[in-house]
Parts: sequence; C-alpha cells; structure tokens
Amino acid sequence: GYKSRVTVVGSGNWGSVAAKLIASNTLKLNSFHDEVRMWVFEETLLSGEKLTDVINRTNENVKYLPGIKLGKNVIADPDIHNAVKDANMLVFVTPHQFIDGICKSLIGKVRGDAEAISLIKGMDVKMEGPCMISTLISEQLGINCSVLMWANIANEIAVEKFSEATVGYRDNREIAEQWVQLFNTPYFMVTPFQDVEGVELCGTLKNVVALAAGFVDGLDMGNTTKAAIMRIGLKEMRAFSKLLFSSVRDSTFFESCGVADVLTTCLGGRNRKVAEAFAKSGGKRSFDELEAEMMQGQKLQGVSTAREVYEVLSHRGWLELFPLFATMHEICIGRLPPSAIVEYSEKKSRLS
Ligand code: NAD
Ligand code: 13P
Ligand code: CA
Repeated sequence: GYKSRVTVVGSGNWGSVAAKLIASNTLKLNSFHDEVRMWVFEETLLSGEKLTDVINRTNENVKYLPGIKLGKNVIADPDIHNAVKDANMLVFVTPHQFIDGICKSLIGKVRGDAEAISLIKGMDVKMEGPCMISTLISEQLGINCSVLMWANIANEIAVEKFSEATVGYRDNREIAEQWVQLFNTPYFMVTPFQDVEGVELCGTLKNVVALAAGFVDGLDMGNTTKAAIMRIGLKEMRAFSKLLFSSVRDSTFFESCGVADVLTTCLGGRNRKVAEAFAKSGGKRSFDELEAEMMQGQKLQGVSTAREVYEVLSHRGWLELFPLFATMHEICIGRLPPSAIVEYSEKKSRLS
C-alpha cells in the first residue's frame, strides 16, 4: 500500500523532540516510511563542525537538545528544498518570526498533495490584520494545514514524561486521525479537536500570559497573585480568540492546548524564566539581551506575540477590553514598570 513520507521543517528545542516522537512511530507503523527528514537551519558550532554533520554523526542535536538520541531514522538535511520535495506530510516547527521567509522559499517546491501541520506558537500581523501561522502556511503553499498544540516543555517530553496534546483541525477528521497516529505515543496522548483557530490561538496567546507569570515571580508576588494572573489571562485569551473568530468554542480552553498549557508554561516555561529575570532587573535589562544570555540560541515567542496582540488591539479599538494583554506589551517595551502587571485596577473591573 501507499506509504507516507514525513519531513520536519525546523530543528530547535521542540523541533528536535517532535522529530524524535515521530521517528519512533514511523518505525512502528507500516503506513509510514521509516525515514524522517529534518530540515536544519545550518550553523557552524564552536568546534568548527556543521550542526547537520554532528546531528547525523551522533544522532543528537547537540546544540538545541543535547543528551537525547533522536532515532537512527532521523536524517538532518540543511537543504530545505531537498528536505521537502518527496514528503506528503510536512511538520512545521520553527520560531514564528522565521516562518514567513521559510514559506516564501518553499513556494512551488512542495508536493501538491502534501498535508501540513503547524506546531508553531505565534501569529503574523500584517496591514490587513492578523494571520494565524497555519493560514500563512496554507495560503502561501496552497496546501491544507492543521495544528498541534500541547501543554509541555520540550525537555520533559524528550525524557518521556507523560503529557497530552491537541490536534486542531478544520473539517477533515481523517487527516486529523493521521496526525494523531504520527504523534501519539504511550507517554504523549494526542486528541483531535475540531477548532483549528481556537487551538492555535491558545498556543499563541498563552505565551503572553507566561510572561506575566514570570513578572509575578520576579517581583515575589506569590502563588495567589500568579493564580489570579493565570485566570485573567485565560479569560482574555478566550475573549480575544472569540472576537477574532466567532467559530472558536468555549470547550477548546479545557483541552490540553488551553488551560493545561497556561499552567505548564506559567510554571516551567522559557518565557516565564526570562520574564522573571526581566522583572528582577526592574526592567533595566532588555528582553533581547536576556534572551541572548539565557537561552543558548533558543527563541522566546511571548515578547513579539505581546506586540502583535497589541497591534491588533489598538487597530480595532479593543485596548480597554484587554487590560492584561495591553499592559504586557507596555511593560515589555519599557513604557511601564513590571509592577504595572497588577496596577491597572480601574480597568480591572471590566474583566470580571
Ligand atoms: P527554538 O526556540 O529552539 O529556536 C531555535 C531554532 O531556531 C533553531 O533550530 C535555529 O536554527 C532556528 N533559527 C535561528 N535563526 C533562524 C533563521 N534565521 N531562520 C530559520 N531558523 C532559524 O525552537 P523550538 O523550541 O523548536 O520552537 C519552535 C516553536 O515551537 C515555537 O513557536 C515555540 O513556541 C514552540 N514550542 C516550543 C516548546 C518548547 O518547550 N521548546 C514547547 C511548545 C512549543
Ligand atoms: P516556552 O517557550 O515559554 O518554554 O513555552 C513552551 C511551550 O509552548 C509549552 O507548551
Ligand atoms: Ca514504517
């Protein structure tokens, strides 16, 4: 019978874990070719070697996921056109700021019958308005794009801690089931859910809430305040998503991609960690500087998402409806101090 070929576009911290998960399943399943291609944005390591060569020699992404074997059937490839050309299942997992350029370079290069899935948390804001990353992929490449959003920290899944994830799809349940097959493992429980925009917006917006949680930690405000910020954040996530897409369902926010992701990132994520350091510095050190110092080449998504959300809010006259989101951006750019996170009381009453 027909066998699917899978390529992972991206090879950062989560991209490498995704390749590992997928590769364990393609080995077990007859309906998939065993080999998984992983496109690597090539770089030269301090040792002078190319990252791709080291991944293929050691079977480890020594820079973005050190200490974890990816599986011998993962093949790193620095040539993006070569990596995608035979694949009928494309998994997109890069920091969101790079995806527009990547898609442009892939126009006309992917199979016409390919299906895509985006693991990317973020959105693209253009003059015409906000565009979800799955829509950008779908429109630029002329292929269908589902999403996979999950409540977990890459390094914990890499060592096979139990967790869950949500596949968001528009209308084709069969395709969603294929993605579930590809990702599901005994320790990574994947559920299909029909609300592609809602699922993707959960993954995108929770990164802003995670920064807020980091500020709370940096200012030693304690768990009481952190819980309040998580609740208010979740509420703004839902309100924003529903204003953008009336099809978004309330129940989406109870899936793994919703409340569970808010909890996991506010407790243990990278956005939280760097935001804590930002608040500890009293906002004196910039996010760019802290990211470079603390993240070893990994990328934060929350700061640019806060800006993108703010652009949408101000364009549409919604700033007053979203005091937490609006305040977050102003803190990130230094217009307000981190303590402003709980100093918008005259606006807060509108949230209840
Ligand atoms: P990452 O944060 O590890 O980012 C580093 C990657 O970006 C590397 O592969 C690097 O080569 C690449 N890169 C750097 N400059 C580039 C350029 N100019 N063009 C293209 N690529 C470039 O990446 P990640 O953790 O795989 O995150 C990808 C997505 O997954 C993000 O949207 C993130 O929010 C999401 N995510 C991450 C985690 C996690 O725990 N790491 C969990 C859930 C979701
Ligand atoms: P961070 O990028 O803040 O680590 O969040 C990862 C994530 O998306 C958890 O689901
Ligand atoms: Ca197989």
